[in-house]
Amino acid sequence: MSVESVLKLIADEQVEYVDIRFTDPKGKLQHVTVVSDLVDEDFLEEGFMFDGSSIAGWKSIDQSDMKLMPDTTSVYLDPFYAEKTLAIHCDVVEPDTGEVYDRCPRQTAKKAEAYLKSSGIGDTFYAGPEAEFFLFDDVRYSVTPAKVGYSIDADAAAWNTDAEFEGGNLAHRAGHKGGYFPVNPIDEAQDIRSEMLSTMKSIGMKVDKHHHEVATCQHELGMIFGGLVEQADNIQKYKYIIHNVAAGYGKTATFMPKPMKGDNGSGMHVNMSIWKDGKPLFAGDQYADLSMEALYFIGGILKHAKALNAITNPSTNSYKRLIPGFEAPVLRAYSARNRSGCVRIPWTESPKAKRVEARFPDPSANPYLAFAALLMAGLDGIKNKIHPGEASDKDLYDLPPEELAQIPTVCGSLREALEELEKDMDFLLAGDVFTKDQLEGYMALKWEEVYAYEHTPHPIEYQMYYSC
Ligand code: GLU
Ligand code: MG
Ligand code: MG
Repeated sequence: MSVESVLKLIADEQVEYVDIRFTDPKGKLQHVTVVSDLVDEDFLEEGFMFDGSSIAGWKSIDQSDMKLMPDTTSVYLDPFYAEKTLAIHCDVVEPDTGEVYDRCPRQTAKKAEAYLKSSGIGDTFYAGPEAEFFLFDDVRYSVTPAKVGYSIDADAAAWNTDAEFEGGNLAHRAGHKGGYFPVNPIDEAQDIRSEMLSTMKSIGMKVDKHHHEVATCQHELGMIFGGLVEQADNIQKYKYIIHNVAAGYGKTATFMPKPMKGDNGSGMHVNMSIWKDGKPLFAGDQYADLSMEALYFIGGILKHAKALNAITNPSTNSYKRLIPGFEAPVLRAYSARNRSGCVRIPWTESPKAKRVEARFPDPSANPYLAFAALLMAGLDGIKNKIHPGEASDKDLYDLPPEELAQIPTVCGSLREALEELEKDMDFLLAGDVFTKDQLEGYMALKWEEVYAYEHTPHPIEYQMYYSC
């Protein structure tokens, strides 16, 4: 939307406030609200000063002034506020020079798109993210997440779920791995999901479907694929809408990757393809009707998967999801058939729909950084002709242990992922898409999380060791 159109929209819709939104390095959407009278051509073209020192991982207090530059391609009327408010996603720029602030994730995503074009490999990267989430009753309405009704087998019972087995009628509840997808009343969240999807549609997002996911209380809504920055923006809108509609129903939504022991976790699979001159680059006559470029792209993803983990699986909780048995990948393998590897090639007859699906990312990732990093790994694969090896079409967990042991894995902890990123970051630095300073700042933030986690006694340790 042009600057003129935004101003016209503000006038036509009698918008009272403009909500300036941006994403911090950890991926959280932040905002400042400005009275719409102040929003004119200058405001939209010159940007808005703010104190960047309050954002973890950005500037220190002595150089805190930063500028938010509204991006008028991402404008929508906020569907929740009582006063009419227009939301605009922004980029962060240096206040004096107007140059890109290299720790702004949205700028990284823009640079990755530009890098693809400059590489000559393609001109468009499409991403189709599938972010799963859980809905739990809000504790303020008296039921704790661990006590939301479900029946799980005793073996899978987590230390914090014993309370469930005390009384209570669990009829019409999705059981352990039983959510996918009986109709209501087992599926209790139909209306909530529909309202979420309708709200997305009302702000112009392209959506297609929603369904209960495999775990109890787990859900997924479908968005139509789009460009890299566009889809990262959409994930931010997706999360915002899901959190807020859930709140309206007295629920809380969580995108943490593994909230429940013994049931599926939440992934954010990313379907990806590259196009050049209006043609799909990934369709061809190789394995699963892929092109050589697509195979090399997969090779790059698999090669750099451990470093990618620090960005695509950036929480200590992420690694509780990446274990066998819950449709989340552990092995660095690819296949058209099974879901146990890191990369799957979803079946399609249409060359236009030919894509590769990275299955290891999860929704605790910053979407701008995650999509940019995946593209950079794939491009490194194409540039260096990194062949991914033979596809693994058997269920990888049925392989004899000796064979299984030959297949490399993803990281087992955030600590390991950060160590891997430290060793393998050049592919991200190509074309200055990511910068060393940015990655150092990002890793420092993530090390704080690792230490906080490692230094805190865990409840399960009381069960295992208290009486030792
Ligand atoms: N929840 C699974 C995961 O953790 C994915 C299930 C699916 O294939 O949609 O990745
Ligand atoms: Mg799913
Ligand atoms: Mg998927």
